Amino acid sequence: MPESILVLTHAGEASHSLSKASLETVTAGKELSARLNAPMTIGIISANYADTARSLAGVNTRVLGVAGEPFVEARYATDAAACEALCRAANPTIILAPQSSRMARVAAALAHRLSGCIDTHVTSVRGEDSPEISRWFYRQRIEGVITRSMRPWILLLEAGTYSAYSCQEGEIAVEQIAVALPAIRTSVSGTRAPAQDAQTIRPDAKMLFVAGAGWTKKQPDGLVHASEAGDLILAFLRQSGASLGSSKSLVDQGGDGQPVLPFLTHLNQVGQTGSTPRHPKGLATCCHGEEPHVVGWRFIGDRRAISLDPNCGWARGKADVVYVADAFKVMSKVNELLRSKA
Ligand SMILES: Cc1cc2nc3c(=O)[nH]c(=O)nc-3n(C[C@H](O)[C@H](O)[C@H](O)COP(=O)(O)OP(=O)(O)OC[C@H]3O[C@@H](n4cnc5c(N)ncnc54)[C@H](O)[C@@H]3O)c2cc1C
Repeated sequence: MPESILVLTHAGEASHSLSKASLETVTAGKELSARLNAPMTIGIISANYADTARSLAGVNTRVLGVAGEPFVEARYATDAAACEALCRAANPTIILAPQSSRMARVAAALAHRLSGCIDTHVTSVRGEDSPEISRWFYRQRIEGVITRSMRPWILLLEAGTYSAYSCQEGEIAVEQIAVALPAIRTSVSGTRAPAQDAQTIRPDAKMLFVAGAGWTKKQPDGLVHASEAGDLILAFLRQSGASLGSSKSLVDQGGDGQPVLPFLTHLNQVGQTGSTPRHPKGLATCCHGEEPHVVGWRFIGDRRAISLDPNCGWARGKADVVYVADAFKVMSKVNELLRSKA
């Protein structure tokens, strides 16, 4: 059966523009469409698709949109209905969508409604005649390659696996798709979120900054400097916009009654039993670089580490550059330079 592709996209939170993950999915769709020689359609869910579609100018494909107040906020009933309407209008065999919380919430239901199938956490879509996708299993240690004959096939793409589609913004023709909304039982009364500088996990950041247990260990003067460590790390995060990761030892310390950095939780933990974030650059500080930690760095491009130990794991081939130095001194100098640059 000839393939046809629908890329489902949505506006970013509190924004009229398409989310970055949506633009990455557009790139994946364009590449797949060219390889399979299959037609591609883009579906937009937003309050006002005319504005949202501006970031797709020049994409040269059919664009469908659902718009209106019910689609301003992510909500299961309205988003599932919108996705279904877009799919029925485009009638695709392959549906690509970002692995955003908004899409992840409704995509399985969409597969059910379309009598199709779904794969999530997809990291690449290859294949010349029909799609062949990959995703990681068992804590990113086994890469699985999957093909399926069932259609439609919904694929949720991990953020950061494709570059975001970019173009000169401009007007673009969008076909409006009507959505039959079910009775809406959920109304969104507001959003409660931590202040921007309290939110230390930033998946879109260019850089991952990892704090290791060394920050709260006795330093050469025989004393612990945990509060100074916290100040240095937070100042760096504020000035650089980096995302904060941690080693397991550091986040476990709270439970062991040892000095802690109060802004760290297990959600920050990177590694085999933590997360595997994607950032172009990473800097590990006061961290030994043991394998169960470094396995979480699989998708970090340029890896650097600051450790007092010239024999640490990073120095044994796990980092591109290792600074054998005192992280307190280095980070305080880096912060000073960032301040003077600002
Ligand atoms: C099944 C299993 C799963 C695991 N999963 C994970 C995981 O998901 N993530 C994870 O991180 N770990 C994981 N671990 C633990 C991992 O093996 C290490 O124990 C942990 O990563 C060590 O943390 P660390 O490097 O911060 O601490 P440490 O090993 O204590 O290293 C601290 C480092 O800081 C350096 N240092 C101290 N002071 C300074 C200073 N002033 N300047 C510069 N450097 C300084 C020291 O030289 C030392 O190298 C797992 C272990 C097991 C067994």
